[in-house]
Amino acid sequence: MELTDITTIKTLFTKHGFSFTKSLGQNFLINPAVCPKIAEQGGCTKETCALEIGTGVGVLTKELALRAKKAVAVEIDKGLEPILKETLADFDNIEIVFADIMELDLHRLFNEHFSGEEVVVCANLPYYITSPVIMRLLEENLPISSLTVMVQREAADRICAPMGTRECGAITAAVNYYSTPKRLFNVSRGSFKPAPNVDSSVIKLDVSKEKKYPQVTDEKLFFRIIRAAFAQRRKQLLNPLSAELGIPKADLSEKLTKCGIKLTARPEELKMEDFAALYTAIYG
Ligand code: SAM
Repeated sequence: MELTDITTIKTLFTKHGFSFTKSLGQNFLINPAVCPKIAEQGGCTKETCALEIGTGVGVLTKELALRAKKAVAVEIDKGLEPILKETLADFDNIEIVFADIMELDLHRLFNEHFSGEEVVVCANLPYYITSPVIMRLLEENLPISSLTVMVQREAADRICAPMGTRECGAITAAVNYYSTPKRLFNVSRGSFKPAPNVDSSVIKLDVSKEKKYPQVTDEKLFFRIIRAAFAQRRKQLLNPLSAELGIPKADLSEKLTKCGIKLTARPEELKMEDFAALYTAIYG
């Protein structure tokens, strides 16, 4: 069954009484070239297991299962269950978990399905929760070697921006703390049904095996600095940082100078090493 074919999708929907729910970010891929590329460039091999978030009709799930040892997919919409039973009937290495990825106990999921396995995440993410999902998967310290995910073009620009440039934000710093991000390829809005109002990109985050910044001993405090710094992206660091962290300006000026950071610097000018040094100066 060709799951990117619109007539096939319509027939499945009619047969099982399913219709798109916009609020769940249900834009399904209809470009046949995209899913095989996500699975291949996402590192699916017979030695790895794949985790997918959001199955739709199973178009990517199938490509993951064809290449990986096993594919586990988390899908929030139980209405897709009868469709997936039909579309993925030929596979015995797929498990679908009907749950909200933001609520699910991920450590339990990994213990139950991926014990001792290398896991790659591959997904066409629901756009309304792109950053929270990426952050949750990175923050929970799960044995994931990479995340290869479709996101809105604007989110890809932000996440993959080099630190120290105008495009970066708090999410850039957070992602760079755990991984090395890169853009793999762009996908036009016409590749989806229904077509969204924006184009997309597939990005890959290679998760670091070792801590990249071992001097950061309390991640909550580290991210507090990052959030405070980027709260007013275009403003000089000193005022927002002092206000958000409750540190008197004179103290903070001294710490910034000690770290070699100009008092007139804006958050977008800082590299990860600068944030790590600032963490040590404030909380170390
Ligand atoms: N993988 C399919 C494809 O490429 O055609 C569907 C991708 S669609 C952009 C996002 C999918 O994520 C939908 O199937 C939607 O129901 C599901 N989804 C939305 N919110 C979710 C959540 N909180 N937890 C798990 N799945 C979710």
